[in-house]
Amino acid sequence: MKTIAEPAREIPVIRDVDVCVLGGGPSGIIAALQAAAHGAKTLLVERYGFLGGMATAGMVGPILGLREVGSENATAGAMTEQFCRRMADIGGATQWEESVKAGRVAFDVEAYKVTADRMCTEFGVDLLLHCVAVDSVVEAGVLRAVVVESKSGRQAIAAKCFIDATGDADVAFRAGAECTKGRPADGLMMAMGSMFRVGGMQPLSEDQAKAAREIITRARDEGLFTTYHSGLGGQGSVLQPGDASCNITRFAGDATDVEDLTRGEVFIREQVWRIVEFWRNNIPGLENVHLIANPPNIGIRETRQLVGLDRVTGEDVIAGRKRDDAIARCSYWIDIHCPRGFGDGGVHLCYKQCPNTSCYMLTDYADQLPDELHPPDYFDIPYGSLVPVEIDGLLVGGRCISADYQAMSAARVMAPCMAIGDACGVAAAMAADANVTPRKLDVATLRSRLREAGAVC
Ligand SMILES: Cc1cc2nc3c(=O)[nH]c(=O)nc-3n(C[C@H](O)[C@H](O)[C@H](O)COP(=O)(O)OP(=O)(O)OC[C@H]3O[C@@H](n4cnc5c(N)ncnc54)[C@H](O)[C@@H]3O)c2cc1C
Repeated sequence: MKTIAEPAREIPVIRDVDVCVLGGGPSGIIAALQAAAHGAKTLLVERYGFLGGMATAGMVGPILGLREVGSENATAGAMTEQFCRRMADIGGATQWEESVKAGRVAFDVEAYKVTADRMCTEFGVDLLLHCVAVDSVVEAGVLRAVVVESKSGRQAIAAKCFIDATGDADVAFRAGAECTKGRPADGLMMAMGSMFRVGGMQPLSEDQAKAAREIITRARDEGLFTTYHSGLGGQGSVLQPGDASCNITRFAGDATDVEDLTRGEVFIREQVWRIVEFWRNNIPGLENVHLIANPPNIGIRETRQLVGLDRVTGEDVIAGRKRDDAIARCSYWIDIHCPRGFGDGGVHLCYKQCPNTSCYMLTDYADQLPDELHPPDYFDIPYGSLVPVEIDGLLVGGRCISADYQAMSAARVMAPCMAIGDACGVAAAMAADANVTPRKLDVATLRSRLREAGAVC
């Protein structure tokens, strides 16, 4: 490959704070709020012009993983509850009590954005939007500064403690922390997808829905479009009658590769247009259906995972493993969307019961596939899964924590990511206050501070 040398240059340090959170998704928002609530001078940096991550830029929802399997005990903490109640108060989400019972908060994307803005302002979180973390400055194994790019140019941010909540472990990776990608067999990660929004949906009778599935299956077989199942994609996170949020598209690729991201966006937009046009013209009852919006960013399920002091595994999920150093609980299940982009007959998972029996994962690597999928009640996330092995001064939150590909497929949903955000925020504020690096924190003290803050661990 042809290369060119970048000119070396001095760049201005535009902020020097206690805690800097990179990435304003579900995990980063809660982390920043908790850090500020615990007295830290906190900056939250986000590459888009709005907060929310996949909840807003990916238009995904509802918030899942809110309560233990088979009980109404919430696994989400008080900050997540406050966030959801505030969305409900402005008519932008389902009520908290009924949401915990149902195990899901349906919300409006714009309510999510404005609630995040309002809470950050009230908690005193300093915000930098339209600002991308592009490099990390490490001295003697400690992350000292993060380099950002924006319309203002290349600038640096110094902090006593950083939290990488980019979803892709961008900061940790660029700091030189070891990361893994995908499953051991072939390194593939879960397919990207999109939750597009349509209006004009009529409720179909059982017979109409059955006929629709048959028509869609025939059209897919003829190659008119691709979907990973023959349904219409469910209600997702919609509050308006007649709207639907459809999760039926897939693109296999690496979402840390700009070429794959570009191909994925173009491919999925094309599929969505064809799908909605086909529904309108061919499915009785859907004559008024129309596309309201594609998400601003293709849906990204999995990219890098940190290699941390500890690692959560698929066995931990199935065993419902509890730990003395737990900082969050996850009740969600092993939900691996086929990394090759396939799916059929309503089965979307990569596991031993996949109907695609000629796939090399089943013929050659069945021992690497999960059989059981659900935890008995919940499994614990240990503090060590947020702490990089090599780099200090940094915690990693959200879906890119240290977890194998099975455990990440459970921990990636929003409620556990928000719970991990609680832990990152409180731990970073404690580390900054005590002037120690996060790996030196006493985990028992962190756990009691988390419980005082209403976190569940
Ligand atoms: C199609 C699809 C459907 C899903 N459905 C559901 C569902 O129904 N319910 C559910 O609970 N979960 C669902 N999920 C999973 C869930 O949405 C995500 O895993 C979750 O949002 C992860 O949260 P996060 O905060 O770790 O990361 P993200 O939500 O990815 O947020 C990361 C944030 O960091 C920002 N960022 C990234 N890189 C940089 C950088 N270098 N500099 C600055 N900012 C940066 C991003 O813009 C983003 O705001 C779905 C995911 C997909 C893809």
